[in-house]
Amino acid sequence: MTDARTALVLFSGGQDSTTCLAWALERHAHVETLAFDYGQRHRIELECRHTVRRELAASFPHWAGRLGEDHLLDLGLLGQISDTALTDARAIEMQANGLPNTFVPARNLLFLGFAAALAYRRGATVLVGGMCETDYSGYPDCRDNTIKAMQVALSLGLDAPLVIETPLMWLSKAQTWALAHTLGGAALTALIEEHTHTCYRGERGERHAWGHGCGQCPACALRAAGHAAWRGEVA
Ligand code: ZN
Repeated sequence: MTDARTALVLFSGGQDSTTCLAWALERHAHVETLAFDYGQRHRIELECRHTVRRELAASFPHWAGRLGEDHLLDLGLLGQISDTALTDARAIEMQANGLPNTFVPARNLLFLGFAAALAYRRGATVLVGGMCETDYSGYPDCRDNTIKAMQVALSLGLDAPLVIETPLMWLSKAQTWALAHTLGGAALTALIEEHTHTCYRGERGERHAWGHGCGQCPACALRAAGHAAWRGEVA
């Protein structure tokens, strides 16, 4: 059964949001994508996302007709008010509060607020995001309760129904790879390996089994470990 509601996917061009995009395309009759430019160091992901959209449409004709407009919102102000390793060239490390210094305070709250505003204008009543509190960096704005609270706040504030779907919330990184395989088989996992971007440092670099990246930063480490676990290369 196809869901007639229009879905707006928060689509950064990474592994998680590409899996979410495939998940939405499998379910919804019309799917649009949204990304934010906030001065992130890994700006290369903003270019990867066009390639991913193009490759998805080419490899999965039954999804191509459902894939609608792409949107890019300029959130440069987020770079102005945050002081993190995600937006500045500095070493990525743990802070005293247990969070890595890649944490951009309230990033997902702002993203969801702007996504809801765009969804309202575009007639979309479903937001889809790759937030996950299973294999994650501990960002409190990725947690299920935070997202559910945002869903309630936005639905009330817009006085319109708005559902936030987070298909990866309770999946490990290995299970996210497995979900992609369920949705699109080896063609989709190969597409994700080759074309999506995860590395915080913005490096494409060497091609590993799990894709391109520096192989050292926390995002690369998570992606590599999940891929290895999915492939059964580790216990
Ligand atoms: Zn990296």
